[in-house]
Amino acid sequence: MRHSRRTAMTLVTGSLVLALAACGQSSSGGSKETKTGGKGSTIGIAMPTKSSERWINDGNNMVKQFKALGYKTDLQYGEDDVDHQVSQIENMITKGVDVLVVAAIDGKALSDVLQQAADQHIKVISYDRLILGTPNVDYYASFDNEKVGVLQATYIIDKLGLKSGAKKGPFNIELFAGSPDDNNTRYFWDGAMKTLKPYLDKKELVVRSKQTKLDQATTLRWDGATAQKRMDDLLTKAYSSADVDAVLSPYDGISIGVLSSLKSDGYGTSAKPYPIVTGQDGEVASVKSIIAGQQTQTVYKDTRALAKQAVQMADAMLNKKKVEVNDTTTYNNGKKVVPSYLLKPVSVDKSNYKAEMVDSGYIKASDLK
Ligand code: BGC
Repeated sequence: MRHSRRTAMTLVTGSLVLALAACGQSSSGGSKETKTGGKGSTIGIAMPTKSSERWINDGNNMVKQFKALGYKTDLQYGEDDVDHQVSQIENMITKGVDVLVVAAIDGKALSDVLQQAADQHIKVISYDRLILGTPNVDYYASFDNEKVGVLQATYIIDKLGLKSGAKKGPFNIELFAGSPDDNNTRYFWDGAMKTLKPYLDKKELVVRSKQTKLDQATTLRWDGATAQKRMDDLLTKAYSSADVDAVLSPYDGISIGVLSSLKSDGYGTSAKPYPIVTGQDGEVASVKSIIAGQQTQTVYKDTRALAKQAVQMADAMLNKKKVEVNDTTTYNNGKKVVPSYLLKPVSVDKSNYKAEMVDSGYIKASDLK
């Protein structure tokens, strides 16, 4: 059903594009030159889902910043439905946007639609998540994704006292990863696992479930309920006679799911305290959970700064100026190394959430009440 709707949409889009190409005009009605005109241009912003607060912030921050520079914007959310996101991008191309900023739901699913964009000379910025398998990506704006995993794992080994050598364990840890179709998942996982490896090798950390491979730990679409179910399962199978001391969680929504499972299993009392639970994004629900002593840590990624980077990239491209990048080696998408600007993630817990996130104006103190 969905597939045939998309095929129909592709056909409609295709014929519109052909008709417009025949007139030698962009679909915004101007001549091709308007594609490089800067101010007054339209930016298509395709975000993955509104179910997570961070993407709402990303979208709003970009709209605000593009508008301040005189651009028009078309912001769409794909609601974690790959075909839906493809249709939204096709519509943006049909409407004649000048630049696309895309945070992909499935990094491998956009080759065809981005070929359509390239045919219309529309520039593409891969936002936060790298788009794979297509040469039609101009720049990538993200955070140091491997560092995110390193920060989460370092927090765990520090907090357990393993890093200083004060304790030798063994401590029980369980491992969660992100969505298998998100390129970031592997970077987060690799960063965390290379940090945990020496302690797993020494058996100072033990994964009682034995689920230590990425494909055993992934969570489709980063879904908290899916993670909760998996945690229920792990607790039933591997923790009838032991407690879990730490959970590597790559994202706040997953952490909240894991914590619900732990709570149902009797954790969260002085006799059976919550394990260390990491996270990512610094979403309000998780910062509240950290303050309440449930989730332990999160990785704060300032979406205002990421939006700013993407806005600068688009503005520079449209004005034929040099685009600022700080990494030209790490992010190979299978077709090319995509020039990138990578920002620094920050580990946050009860001790520094206020300094990092509230004092910087990222979260309002009143939202944490
Ligand atoms: C982002 C994370 C986010 C996750 C789930 C990843 O691609 O980099 O910040 O937690 O998606 O939305």
